[in-house]
Amino acid sequence: MKVLVLNSGSSSIKFRVYEAQGEIRELARGIVERIGEEISRVRYRGPRGEIEYETRIASHEEGLGHVLKALTDPEKGVISDPSEIRGVGHRVVHGGDAVSQPVVVDEEVEAAIERFAVMAPLHNPANLAGIRAAKKVFPDALHVAVFDTAFHQTLPEEAYLYAIPYEYYEKYRVRRYGFHGISHMYVAERAAEILGRPLEELRIITCHLGNGASLAAVKGGRSVETSMGLTPLEGLVMGTRSGDIDPSIFYFLMKWEGLSADEVYTLLNKRSGLLGLSGISNDVRVLTERMEAGDEAAARALRVYAHRVKKYIGAYMAVLGGADAIVFTAGVGENSALMRSMILEGLEGLGIVLDEEKNRDPAAHGYVVSSDSSQVKVLVIPTNEELVIARETLRLLKSKG
Ligand code: AMP
Repeated sequence: MKVLVLNSGSSSIKFRVYEAQGEIRELARGIVERIGEEISRVRYRGPRGEIEYETRIASHEEGLGHVLKALTDPEKGVISDPSEIRGVGHRVVHGGDAVSQPVVVDEEVEAAIERFAVMAPLHNPANLAGIRAAKKVFPDALHVAVFDTAFHQTLPEEAYLYAIPYEYYEKYRVRRYGFHGISHMYVAERAAEILGRPLEELRIITCHLGNGASLAAVKGGRSVETSMGLTPLEGLVMGTRSGDIDPSIFYFLMKWEGLSADEVYTLLNKRSGLLGLSGISNDVRVLTERMEAGDEAAARALRVYAHRVKKYIGAYMAVLGGADAIVFTAGVGENSALMRSMILEGLEGLGIVLDEEKNRDPAAHGYVVSSDSSQVKVLVIPTNEELVIARETLRLLKSKG
């Protein structure tokens, strides 16, 4: 049985095809980029070769036509007819409190994605466009939506409520939702496997540090705290997002700089974080190079970034009553030994001791990078959100018979 996983962004569609014959394995993957621009690009890699070309692609529906063309390519494709794709799993960012599980997409689900688009304006409309286009291109498939917010629907009330008048929670559902849930769930499960212990017994702090970044406190496999909130702006310092700030800054920037609310909102989302602090880049690789060359602005930005993660780890140890494991994942978490080291420096008092040699090459040490004496295990685990979406799609396909 074959399933397609789609991650539709505002101008791109990332796709992967999986086959389940007992075990799930990836057959092919690719991306359609720069949809709606002058020149778009299609890239595909299958078991019998690669396809790459540039053309003009105006919409997601057209983009998916190109995905289908690559998948059915007589020489390099992996299917001969679209009906071979039995299920399509869609990644959706914001499902609000309407969904806490992967679901088959129906009108009600589409309405929920639309309703919460106001809180994820960059993501939800694109996700929905991808779903609608895919329903046309793969009309026989079961379409499943897997939400970034769903895993955090187990947060207790004291963790998800903001201390503003309760009427705004009732009226607008203003509360903390959390994101990156698919990734937090996946790496928590993998950590339990790697440690050879039941997930139900573990207290795990998962650190998804990519261009967007968030932490989650996972108790017995359930998310009980997470650092992103109503939107993905809250919490950690990110590539271009500020993370936590005193809310008054919004007011003063409007007043002092004569900015509109929209302008300040954009500034906090697009011109802040590592980019805003350093004035150089949002990319940890670039900042690391500059820091090593003696650039103080780059070093300062990375120190603020690391400090924020450290502070959250301490807070989540308190929330969990201690931790069995800390997991690093995503672009920065998986690849930057320096950031992991800066974040965990000085935490020996909390039972967290990094082994610097293992930290330099996690895969060579079974992904565990803490010293043998460390009470809290530290792991580096590559995330795989697409695999989770494929599994969930297959599960729903099987349950529908
Ligand atoms: P993601 O959103 O998970 O794709 O992560 C993207 C971010 O990961 C980039 O903006 C970089 O800052 C960071 N990154 C990727 N590779 C490396 C690396 N080798 N060292 C440090 N940071 C990296």
